[in-house]
Amino acid sequence: MHASPPAQNLLAAIDQLLPQTQCTQCNYPGCLAYARAIAGGEAEINQCPPGGEVSIQRLAQLLARPAVPLNPENGAQQPLQCAFIHEPDCIGCKLCIAACPVDCIIGATKLMHTVIANDCSGCELCVPVCPTDCITMRAPARHAPDDNSDPPNPSMWSQFSQQQVEKSRARAQQKRRRVNAQQRARARHSSHRRRACLQQEIRAAVQRKQAQQQQA
Ligand code: SF4
Ligand code: SF4
Ligand code: SF4
Repeated sequence: MHASPPAQNLLAAIDQLLPQTQCTQCNYPGCLAYARAIAGGEAEINQCPPGGEVSIQRLAQLLARPAVPLNPENGAQQPLQCAFIHEPDCIGCKLCIAACPVDCIIGATKLMHTVIANDCSGCELCVPVCPTDCITMRAPARHAPDDNSDPPNPSMWSQFSQQQVEKSRARAQQKRRRVNAQQRARARHSSHRRRACLQQEIRAAVQRKQAQQQQA
């Protein structure tokens, strides 16, 4: 069901105050899902460790709710890191590609995989799924002290640039659409197969009946 325009505006305003790592530490499947839960009054505003104090303060302001400390059950705010794949140990199983919410891992079946470092949100979701433990998190090169090409947004989080946040939001949306389309296609395919099987069974039953009638 689509939200009405004012509700849609509120949802977008809340989503703007989340850093878009898509890490799921808030206990929702991504930033937009958490934003939806906050907008619906189902979630507290202190469940996003990457957004930390900045997100809490801005959400409290937007929603006229009291600012509360970050809930330690959701984790602690950590410095931004970027995934690195030790390629010689990669077996090309593609599990990390499926897990990455922002589609920043490239590779094909049985070929080694690599991370597009500038697009990595630091969510860490690829680390536990790797069967060979060849993914580690490291300090991202793009935030080296002498790199001013992608500066943090001074009015928001010190560790995420606005460009990075927008990119992660867009890439997550793109991935959600692709996965949904794949699921719909699979469901259509399986319903076609079920219909074809049923038609085959009906044809066989009719043929059996006709054969019985001819013998009678
Ligand atoms: S950054 Fe992680 S914890 Fe914060 S809202 Fe997004 S998915 Fe949830
Ligand atoms: S590469 Fe790993 S850490 Fe980086 S965004 Fe993808 S899943 Fe998250
Ligand atoms: S999960 Fe690990 S082994 Fe599998 S493709 Fe990714 S990096 Fe390679």
